[in-house]
Amino acid sequence: MIVVPLGIASATPTAIRHLPSVALWREGSVFLFDCGENSQMCMLQAGLKRSKIDSIFITHFDVDHYSGLMGLISTLQLQRRDKTLNLIGPKGLKEFVTWNLKFSGVEISFDLDFVEIEEGTDEMRVLDTEDYYVEARPLKHKKFCLGYRFQEKDKPGKVDATKAEQYGITEDEQFKALKAGKNLTLNDGTVIESYEIVGHPRPGDSFAYVTDTEYCPNAVKLAMNTNILYHEATFGNQLADKAKETGHSTAADAARVATEAQTKLLVIGHFSARYTNLHLLLKEAREGFYPTWLAQELRPIFTDPSHERGIVEPKVNLIDLTKKNPQSGGDNYRGGRSRGGRSSAGRHGGGRSGSRNFRPRKSRDDAASGTRGRYGSSNYENRGDRYKKNDGGSYRSDSGGSRDYNNYDRNNRYNDSKPNKSITPRTGYDDFNRF
Ligand SMILES: [Zn+2]
Repeated sequence: MIVVPLGIASATPTAIRHLPSVALWREGSVFLFDCGENSQMCMLQAGLKRSKIDSIFITHFDVDHYSGLMGLISTLQLQRRDKTLNLIGPKGLKEFVTWNLKFSGVEISFDLDFVEIEEGTDEMRVLDTEDYYVEARPLKHKKFCLGYRFQEKDKPGKVDATKAEQYGITEDEQFKALKAGKNLTLNDGTVIESYEIVGHPRPGDSFAYVTDTEYCPNAVKLAMNTNILYHEATFGNQLADKAKETGHSTAADAARVATEAQTKLLVIGHFSARYTNLHLLLKEAREGFYPTWLAQELRPIFTDPSHERGIVEPKVNLIDLTKKNPQSGGDNYRGGRSRGGRSSAGRHGGGRSGSRNFRPRKSRDDAASGTRGRYGSSNYENRGDRYKKNDGGSYRSDSGGSRDYNNYDRNNRYNDSKPNKSITPRTGYDDFNRF
């Protein structure tokens, strides 16, 4: 599954942040959590087709969370959709949508399947299919607000091919039966028990969407053991009072939920417009829960990080300055990248890492005079310089040091148990900018 934040603002959009919406892509279908203004455009920008939307989940009726819904439905109608669209949200959603359609005289050509959750419901399975289900629970906000958990059902274990061959199992039907947990009787009368050949069931992926809430136990329940928890972090610690007053979370609250739920990765979003430097919120969240990322609009996050391999281009260059002569004979640039953890079984393919390493950065004069490296117009190098000056600088001063991200390793993103302080980034630009 891939999570794509489409809008990470809170009530007021800013020049660079849209109203709340997060898309979840799973096997060709898109599930939309909240549908703020501009969601449908952001989907296009993210490369997600609107026709692929399977279900839309609305958390509550603050306008920023559903203001894009009617526009999207209208687009689907213009696209002559014929597939049923699931619309899930608090009681009142059906009335809102049907009234709007009637008001504008739109007759839609596809079915709308509403699931409405009444106030006072404690827990509800709002969608249940063969492969996954979605659960809703009420959160603690100024008005009735729901959080959602998307859970894939466990997949059957893998069949041990060597053993199967030894027993002479060849038919698909036989494999199916074994995977379903049934025992198999061979022609010679031998009984093969399912567990002899089939491994443990593989747990399904999971994603929780918790936004517009103070800290509450239901948020923890929704997020329990999820691969990714998307949680609001509208305010920083300094405005904890304001957060409570408006029924929102601070970054530290989000971290608390993530810690209690033992989620693997926390992604914070729904930022108040007053924060221009979100790293402040990231820093506060990381103090409570280290594997935290900032949601970044249109930047996909994979529930299984190994799937990300090769899709996202590397933009980070971590250098190990403590090693004078790493593998590549004194070439710090190469050594650095390897130490970044990306060479061994890394996303970008172990072997390639060495050959694709960046050369030492050329001076601006070189670049201007047309002496260019392997990367032609060399976006990478220029970008590096820029981040060094701007983002990097400001981040460093905010965090009070570079230690926070020294031990960050994309292959090892869920494991913060052993901070690796030996890696010193060459520039301030780091993985945070990806999310
Ligand atoms: Zn909101």
